Formats: sequence, C-alpha cells, structure tokens
Amino acid sequence: MIKHQGKSEFVILGAGLAGLSAAYHLKRGYSVYEKESGPGGMARTIHKDGYRFDYDGHLLHFRNEYTFSLISKLLEGNLAPHKRNSWIYSKDSYTRYPFQANFYGLPKDVIKDCLVGLIKTRFNLSDERKKDYAEKNNGNFEDWIKMTFGTGIAEHFMLSYNRKFWTVEPRELTCDWLDGFVPVPALEDVVTGAISSNTKLYGYNSRFWYPVKGGISEVVEGFSQSINNIHVNKRAVTIDQHRRDIVFEDGTIKKFKGLIATIPLPELDKILVNVPPKIKEAFSALRYTSIYVVNLGIRRDDVTDRHWVYYPEESIVFYRVGFPTNFSMDVAPPGRTSAYAEISYSDNKKLDRKKAVFDTIRDLKALGIIADEGDIETCQPIDIKYGYALYDSNRQAAVSTIKDYLKRFGIHTMGRYGGWKYMSMEDVVLEGKKTAEEIG
Ligand SMILES: Cc1cc2nc3c(=O)[nH]c(=O)nc-3n(C[C@H](O)[C@H](O)[C@H](O)COP(=O)(O)OP(=O)(O)OC[C@H]3O[C@@H](n4cnc5c(N)ncnc54)[C@H](O)[C@@H]3O)c2cc1C
Repeated sequence: MIKHQGKSEFVILGAGLAGLSAAYHLKRGYSVYEKESGPGGMARTIHKDGYRFDYDGHLLHFRNEYTFSLISKLLEGNLAPHKRNSWIYSKDSYTRYPFQANFYGLPKDVIKDCLVGLIKTRFNLSDERKKDYAEKNNGNFEDWIKMTFGTGIAEHFMLSYNRKFWTVEPRELTCDWLDGFVPVPALEDVVTGAISSNTKLYGYNSRFWYPVKGGISEVVEGFSQSINNIHVNKRAVTIDQHRRDIVFEDGTIKKFKGLIATIPLPELDKILVNVPPKIKEAFSALRYTSIYVVNLGIRRDDVTDRHWVYYPEESIVFYRVGFPTNFSMDVAPPGRTSAYAEISYSDNKKLDRKKAVFDTIRDLKALGIIADEGDIETCQPIDIKYGYALYDSNRQAAVSTIKDYLKRFGIHTMGRYGGWKYMSMEDVVLEGKKTAEEIG
C-alpha cells in the first residue's frame, strides 16, 4: 500500500555535503532523503580492520573565509593544516609537483625540451592572447596546454597525465573546468625549478586541512548534528515532476513544494516521468569518468613521508597514489600505513576490477612502495561510478537545457553531480548555502 508522508515542503534529495549544506542553511521547512544507510555521499569514511578509508583522498582546501570558519566550528577544532608534499614519478625519477615548475631530477634532454618549449611559447604569444584564449574557453584543453606551456611540457607530462586521468584525448576537453586547477608558474620560477630542488608552493591547493581524529566523514558528522530531519534508506525511484511527488523504494510517497536534487543527473534522468525527447537528448549527452580506488592497509609505518605521487605513464596502472596516514595518524592502527591507488576508467577505457587490484599490487611492488603481498594487511576497493563530469563541447549546453526544463517544475539541481561540475567539498558547501538563501 502506498503511504503519503507528511505535508508538502522543500525536499532535498541526497545527503552528500551539497544537500547537508542546503539543509543546514535552510534551517526549517525541508526534509532530506538519502538512499544509503547514512549521510555523507562522497565524503563518507569506511571503517575496516582498524583503518578508516575515505572514498578517495579527501582533503579540505579553503579559498573562502566563510567555509573555513563554518567547518572549523562544525569540527570543534578537530582540524589540522598541512603543507602539500606531492610528487610526480616519470622517466624513472621523482620530481616535485607541479611538473611545469620542477624539472630538477629529470633526464637532461627532457629538461631541455621542456625549457625550450616554454621559452618559445612565451616569446611567440602575448600574455594578453593567452588570457583571452583561456577566458573565452573557445579552445580545447590540448591547445591550451601547448599554448601555455609549450610542446616539451605537453609531451613529457601534461598530455600523457591528462589522457590517463580523463580517459579521453585532451583535445576533446574544453577549458571550462580549469579555474586555477592547473598552476601557471612564472618563467623565473621554472628556471629555478630546473636547476635546483625548488620548494616554492603553487596553486590554491598547496595547503590543505584534514581532521586530526577520524576521517573526512567528521565534516559530515558536524553538519548532521545540526540537522534533524534526514531520512536514510530512502532511494527515490520515481519523480513525477508534473504532480510534484517522489516515490521511494519502500513504497512511500512525498509531495514537494520545491525539490533540491543533488543526485547525479544521469540517475535523475532514469526516474523522471514523461520527459520530452529534446531533454532526453541533453541527458544522454552527459559523459563522465569513473574512479576505482584501491585502499590498502600496509603493515609498516616507514613507507614514505609524501602525501601523494602522480604517475603519468601508461605502463603503471594507477594515475596517483596517496598516503592518508601522512594526513592523520588516526586513520590506521599504530605502526601501519594507509594508502590509496586511483585508477580511472570509462566507456572509452574499460576496467577489469580483479585485474586492477592485482596490477596495483604488482606496480606498488615494482616501485618499492611495498616489498611483497605480505605487507598488505587489508584491501578495500571503492568503485566511484560518477567520478568526474567530462567537460566536452556538449556539456555546458546540455546542463543548461536540463536545468531550465526542471526549473519549470520547482526542481533545482545542484552539487557536484546535480550540477555536473568539477567541484570540491568547499564548492558544494557554498552552493548549498546559496541555494538555501535563494529559496529560503
Ligand atoms: C575521486 C574524488 C576525489 C575527490 N577529492 C576531493 C578532495 O580531495 N577535496 C575536495 O574538496 N573534494 C574532493 N572531491 C569532491 C567531493 O567529493 C565532492 O565535491 C562532494 O563530496 C560532492 O558532494 P555532493 O553532495 O554534491 O554529491 P554526493 O556526495 O555524491 O551526494 C549525493 C547524494 O545523493 C544520494 N543519492 C543518489 N541517488 C539517490 C536516489 N535515487 N535517492 C536518494 N538519494 C540518492 C547519494 O547516495 C549521495 O549521498 C573528490 C571527488 C572525487 C570523485
């Protein structure tokens, strides 16, 4: 029997950080519905064999004063700053991140290619034109890389790393997602980093914050304690946008005055009713990259002091390996190291999950990160289907078409997967606040 739940109010679908932040800032007149048995979405932490594994490396970066003070308040001081110590392994050498400012340690011919390429591009193209190019987003990512860094840096790192990470050719991507994510150092800094081990930090994420106790789900806990009406184990299976109601898997129905949907757009597509063909077409234009995260508990504590290392070469299965015990000792039992290896896949690049774990262990051994299988105490793979929205030339128009259509029915989509954007935890918290202010 179908049971109607309560009066019509604002419904927030999805209790990830976007939904939690919207609820926190709305204060009243809403209910949150979440399909899992607990809130947090991508910011959850799994407990296994004494380890706390986040869904993937989840570090807090703050560009905004408000989010810093809000999260500090919610965590009641359980937050420590860290200075990034990240590296790149390529051509059998370790160099500091970002590659474009740190050639020191690479083979001499590679350093020469990178420097000459960069100098040529700086001479040939005015800063004005480069800025114009990036801002108008009228070019593809591969052209932007070559124009900004030259062919040496492009060939020796940028193209191979991005091809491996995005699983498509960088020329298929737009520049819409850049937003400071790829630092562009001054020529003087590049030269310094070519002749010496340069410790200067670049980019907005050169410092990060992480809970001292517990994993990243401490942030989720902080929000959840201030929100009363989160309903878990409530998977939405139908949204009738015309009648403004949601049917959940358990047969209950909830009417809504307005709906804030943070669930991934392709999932929303599956549960809406009578969607016109033009809108269906927009949904089907959305592409994404998935991430398979192999979390490992290692029986030693002398593995490395690095936070994470990038691996651009195709011969190594993962594109990055991180070490959460270097963010907080509390995420593993004493004398142990927690590590995660990240592998991207998509329709373009299929994944064999069993082989991915096997290849991860093989490559960790070859790199000297573990001595042998006996070093591994526990393994917790996590499969993230919707990892990164793919910024191809169809994305922007498709997302606008979908959003405009849904607005007519009082449905506002937001968050990393509802907005189909490259967003950090801080970004979704801010978007949740903005949405609450707009409708509250
Ligand atoms: C690999 C990876 C690494 C990242 N690393 C960082 C980092 O280091 N730092 C950083 O700041 N950010 C990082 N992020 C981004 C960060 O995880 C996200 O920005 C943020 O957690 C997204 O929150 P959200 O609420 O928008 O989405 P989600 O967390 O996905 O929340 C959506 C919620 O909707 C629920 N849901 C889905 N379908 C239904 C349904 N039918 N019915 C009911 N509920 C449903 C889901 O269970 C989920 O809880 C990373 C992301 C990825 C993928």
